[in-house]
Amino acid sequence: MRLMMNECDIRVFVDSIKIDDNGCWIWQASFRKDDGYPLATGLGVGSMGAHRVSAMHWVGDVPFGYNIHHACRQKTCVNPAHLEILSTVEHRAAHADDKKGATHCNHGHEWNDANSKTYARPDGVVVRSCRACNREAQRRRVAARSPEERARRNALRRVAA
Ligand SMILES: [Zn+2]
Ligand SMILES: [Zn+2]
Ligand SMILES: [Zn+2]
Repeated sequence: MRLMMNECDIRVFVDSIKIDDNGCWIWQASFRKDDGYPLATGLGVGSMGAHRVSAMHWVGDVPFGYNIHHACRQKTCVNPAHLEILSTVEHRAAHADDKKGATHCNHGHEWNDANSKTYARPDGVVVRSCRACNREAQRRRVAARSPEERARRNALRRVAA
C-alpha cells in the first residue's frame, strides 16, 4: 500500500516532529496506548502509525502484512531514512541480531562457542539457543517424571540393552 500526503498533510506531519542529535524525527503528537508507537491522526487516513505513514509516503510500497522496522531502534522516530519495510520473517531476523550483541542469555549464562547452539527454525530464521538453559530444562523434565514413568523408561532401557 502506498500513501501520498498532500502539501497540507506534509506540513502537519513535519510540524509534529522534533529532530534529535541522531537525526531521528521524534514524533511529538499522539501515541498508540498499548505499545507507544507514534500515531498520526487527521491526515486523511483515519489514525495510523506515523512511522507507517512516513514509510508509505517516502520509502515505498508497504505490502499487506509487512512491518515497518526502525533501523535506529527508536520507535518514536518517523524519519523515512531510518525506516525499513520488512516481511515478518525479515523483521524477526533483524531483532534476533539485536540479541547477538548480548553477552549473556536471558538466564545469565555466558554466550560462548561451547554454550551456543545455532539452528534454523522451520520458517528459516536462524536462532541461537543456550546449552546450559537446555540442560536445565531437560533436568526439570526428568525431575517432573512420575515414579511410574521412570520405571517404564528404565524397563525400556533394559530391553534396549
Ligand atoms: Zn530514527
Ligand atoms: Zn523492528
Ligand atoms: Zn542460558
